[in-house]
Order: sequence, then structure tokens, then C-alpha cells
Amino acid sequence: MADKAEQKQGEAKGGVTEITPQSENFSQWYLDVVRRAELADYTEVKGCMAIRPYGYAIWELIQQAFDKRFKATGHVNAYFPLFIPASLLNKEKEHVEGFTPQVAWVTKGGDEDLAEPLAIRPTSEVIIGTCYAKWIKSWRDLPVLINQWANVVRWEKVTRPFLRTTEFLWQEGHTAHETAEEAQDETMKILALYKECAETELAMPVVDGQKSESEKFAGASRTYSIEALMGDGRALQAGTSHNLGQNFAQAFGIQFQGRDKTVQHAWTTSWGVSTRLIGGVIMTHGDDNGLILPPRIAPYQVVIVPIPRGNWQETVLPKAKEIQAALQARGVRVFLDDRDSQTPGWKFAEWELRGVPLRMEIGPKDLEKSAVMVARRDTRAKESMPMDGLTEAIAAKLDEIQAALLQRARTFREEHTTRVGSYDEFKSVMEGRPGFVIAGWCGSEACEAEIKADTQATLRNIPFGGADQKGTCVKCGQPSPAEAWFAKAY
Ligand SMILES: [Zn+2]
Repeated sequence: MADKAEQKQGEAKGGVTEITPQSENFSQWYLDVVRRAELADYTEVKGCMAIRPYGYAIWELIQQAFDKRFKATGHVNAYFPLFIPASLLNKEKEHVEGFTPQVAWVTKGGDEDLAEPLAIRPTSEVIIGTCYAKWIKSWRDLPVLINQWANVVRWEKVTRPFLRTTEFLWQEGHTAHETAEEAQDETMKILALYKECAETELAMPVVDGQKSESEKFAGASRTYSIEALMGDGRALQAGTSHNLGQNFAQAFGIQFQGRDKTVQHAWTTSWGVSTRLIGGVIMTHGDDNGLILPPRIAPYQVVIVPIPRGNWQETVLPKAKEIQAALQARGVRVFLDDRDSQTPGWKFAEWELRGVPLRMEIGPKDLEKSAVMVARRDTRAKESMPMDGLTEAIAAKLDEIQAALLQRARTFREEHTTRVGSYDEFKSVMEGRPGFVIAGWCGSEACEAEIKADTQATLRNIPFGGADQKGTCVKCGQPSPAEAWFAKAY
């Protein structure tokens, strides 16, 4: 085990230093974890981050998990331009009003002023819509099910790595359909896909439901979201799926000849998840010792630390390499940390901070016993595991950790969700331990705005299935058609 002297030595080398405890300052804890786990760094560009290799490896695993599901449901990938001519952006009125304050513009090319400024895409409905207007002629061309992996830019005043940055990475799906019903089915299919992927791969439980009018996407008919609860009791919108109705089809002329030979406007959808999910993973699972990664999105699921005693390079190291090869053959992502520049104690602290799900220690004594010491990151429990059958036992342990993290996050959410019966109760919950508050809501924007002004809580969404038809609005007492979930949010 790491002794204090070893850890101090590590710190002196500039590797592992302390992280602000969550209870002291959650926001600082988050920034410390992002920087010290080498996920991202600030750059000379205000509000823009460099995603470091370890953070990018997490993103690639998240990307693959979603991409696989998009393809399995009939979607294909394509790529569209970064720039949008000003005249195009202005075509859909609500959309342009919603996005104008956040748009960055290119006004010069080389020395020449541009005749028409170019917006850097804040999202791509507009540019993709003009392509669909050309590509779609007949009902036989539908549905169009395209996804784009891209960067977008939204000029933000206050930024925080992964959660809100001026430039970020995401996927944006854009689909066109023959009927309103098909577009709605697609919108809901993607929302369900997002929920399943977030819970299965990121071990991040989410509430799926519909957004209120005031929180919906600019230009959409209806917006749906998945909402997660972070370790500080704030909600994080983790993904959105929009039914755009015929709004964009009318603005951009996406028309087709129907089965009855009449010319009709298509029904479109759009949906996205972004690098914000990495922020969600950090704040759902992390603890005072740093990051905790769910095995399915961990760049290294196991790190092997050989204990350098005696002639370890002739004895321990070959065995460690053998274990590494066997695990890799089983599909487990393994890093063998055989650097002799660092002590085992430094390595333990380092990989704990970086959230690796399992740490395996192997030294001369373990070899004698034909066993290894294995430490779990989530519970920090240590046990000796026999070499015999080790590969399968490790694979099973990773599955166990994945399930335990989801369960732990679900329990946390349940403990931080309160169904309130009165507005006083609503306010006192929001003043105390934060979390989700479930309350009746009449549907009026005025009540929603007053609740936000009084408590800072926003209406996250109106979940499916949980609707209480008989309730009353927590603010005004009028009948409430459905229960809404409120929280302070990122
Ligand atoms: Zn009301």
C-alpha cells in the first residue's frame, strides 16, 4: 500500500495533488477533477477547452456507444458545412430569435469583407434543411435518417469545461418523414435510445419527459429531454429530442409528392447529445478522491501496478504482461503501469484520481500465492484474487461495478427527490438539500416563471407515465394535467 512518504514524493514530482472535497466546494471539486485527471485544459481562447487524450478517449467510447445504436435503428452518418449564410439563418423566425444572441459570425475572408456574413453553426437545422429540400422529391425518398458528428459554436458568457463551452462536440440527428405520426415516433424512439444508452453505458439514471413551452428548442413544436441528477443535487439536461413539425420544412421548402400525388411538406425532427455527457459522468459518480468511471466508458478498465521488489523485472513483470495479454484477449482495456520513475503509492493515487475501475497489484508475495490484489475504485474494497480463472473473474467484476454505479446513482436520485404538496414545502425543499421536486403544474408560463424567480428551480420536464391527472398546480391551485419535475439546473 501507498505510504504517506511515497504519496508526498509523487506530489513533489507534480503528478498527484489534492482535490478540493465535494462538501467544501463542489464546483471547485469538479474543476480540480477535470484538470488533475487530465480530461481537459483551458486554452488561450476564452470559453474553449482542449480535450486531452484521456478525456477524448472517454468521448470516443461514448460516441461509439451512441453511434452503434443510431446505426442499429437505421440512421446513417453524413457531414455538412460549418458555415451558414446569414440569409438562411433568418428564414425560420423562432429559430433565429432563439439563437441570434449566441451566434458567432465570420465577416471577412482574407482581406475581403464578405458580401454576406457567415454564421458559425450553433446547430445545423438550417443548412441541412436546404439540402433536404433538394434531395427529397417523393414520398419514396422518405424517411431520411441522417446523423452528423460535429463541432458547434455558441457564444457563452459563463463557461465550465464540458458542461458549457463556446465550442463543443456533439451529434445532431436530422430526420424527415412523410407523416406527423412518423416524426413523433422518431422523436420518441430517439429519446428512449438516449435513456437506454445513458443508463447502460454511462450508468447515469435519467428522467425522460417533455419540456415546457418556455424551455423548448427554438423553432420546435415539441421538445423532450433526459435529465440526470448530479452529486450536488443539481439537474443536468443530458440530451434532447425535438419534433419540429412542419416548421423547418415550410421555412426551407422541404416538399415531396405524396402517395396521392399532392405536394406536401415533410415532417422533421432533430436530436442531440454532446461532450456535456462527460461532465455528467464526472458529477454523477465522482468522489473526494477524484473521478470514478463506469467500466463501459473507461479508457482503461484495469490498471496493473507491479510491485518493484527484488528481481521483479525477471519475475513479477513477465507475469503482469501475461495477465495483461490474457485480459486484452478477453476484450478488457488494460494499462500496465511499469514505469520505474514512479512509486507504486504514487501510481495507486494517480489511477484512483483518474477513475480506473479496477487496480491490480502484483508483487513477489502475490506470485508465491499465485494470486493478485485487486482494488475497486467505486467501493475502494480490496481483495486477493487467484490467478486461476482471473480473466473471467475480472470481466465479471467489471460488470458488477457497472451495475453497482447505476444502482448507487438511482438510490441517490431517489433520496434527493421530493414530491411536495404545497408551495411552502416546495420553497423549503429548495432552500435545504437540493434535488428534484415533483409538483403539480397548471401549464401556465406565469406560474413556471414565478417558481423560477422564487426558488431558482426550473421545470426540467414532465415525465411520461408519472402524470397525476387529479392534481393541482403547486403555485396557483388550478387543476394540473400532469406532474412536473423541477430542479436547480446546470
Ligand atoms: Zn399554476
